[in-house]
Amino acid sequence: MTLLTRTRPELHEALDHARRGGTLALVPTMGALHRGHRALLRHARAHADTVAVSIFVNPLQFGPGEDLDRYPRTLDADLDACAAEGVDVVWAPGPQVVYPQPPMVTVHAGQGGEVYEGAIRPGHFDGVLTVVCKLVSAFRPDVVVFGQKDAQQLVLVRRMVADLDLGARIEAVPTVREPDGLALSSRNRYLDTLQRHSAVALSRALRAGQQNQADGATQVLRAASAVLRAEPGMDIDYLALVNPATLRAVADDATGEALLLVAARFGPTRLIDNTPLQLGVPA
Ligand code: AMP
Repeated sequence: MTLLTRTRPELHEALDHARRGGTLALVPTMGALHRGHRALLRHARAHADTVAVSIFVNPLQFGPGEDLDRYPRTLDADLDACAAEGVDVVWAPGPQVVYPQPPMVTVHAGQGGEVYEGAIRPGHFDGVLTVVCKLVSAFRPDVVVFGQKDAQQLVLVRRMVADLDLGARIEAVPTVREPDGLALSSRNRYLDTLQRHSAVALSRALRAGQQNQADGATQVLRAASAVLRAEPGMDIDYLALVNPATLRAVADDATGEALLLVAARFGPTRLIDNTPLQLGVPA
């Protein structure tokens, strides 16, 4: 049975009861759960005795003019999904519970939080890391499960946990996609038919890049950007090939692991996607 909690005392009582000395996995989400989130829940279920999910649309990670107010909120359906995946405890606090006062002390993501998504959404990763840090404090989980879908977030969370000795293990789950390749996202529902059609170019570009990984960074970027340029229905924010540990752009002659990142706007809707690849290795 999934227990819904709202306040901190409710959460702690539910965790004390559910945990009973076993391991705890936490899956932080903003709700509007889809099959991508459900893959995270299943991963958590398979790797810990107790599974907890947080559902919180974190105002601190939204900039002025972003979609905080219209971000989808579907708590009843989310609870059904959690129950179906065997989640033990859901915490769905209101903003007043998480931030009883405007925070004076927050986590600063550093330089890795100022590039790519962070360049377009200033302060976004400070908000993400601050809430993840607070969630780790509230739940004291053994494992926290994230999606590879938000690759920059994952890199920064891993660094925060290491740099601040937060003591939780971070596990990543591969991106879940639609049959045509589009990465599942709570924001896909905003796309109209034409935009939905154009959006497939993101994953097509990533695949084209990956298929050229044997030929090195320049060829990867050339192949991916050719696909993006052929799709007029979107505005590209960035296409970048980066070192997965540092988020710095890789050198032309780099070999080994890299991350190909892309972000684009379809009307008012921004989508991001990425793929890991191995430079110098045949695809
Ligand atoms: P969100 O609710 O969008 O903040 O996402 C919560 C978690 O789900 C994050 O760790 C995301 O990376 C992950 N996630 C979102 N979409 C996907 C997807 N298509 N596949 C795998 N994980 C995802």
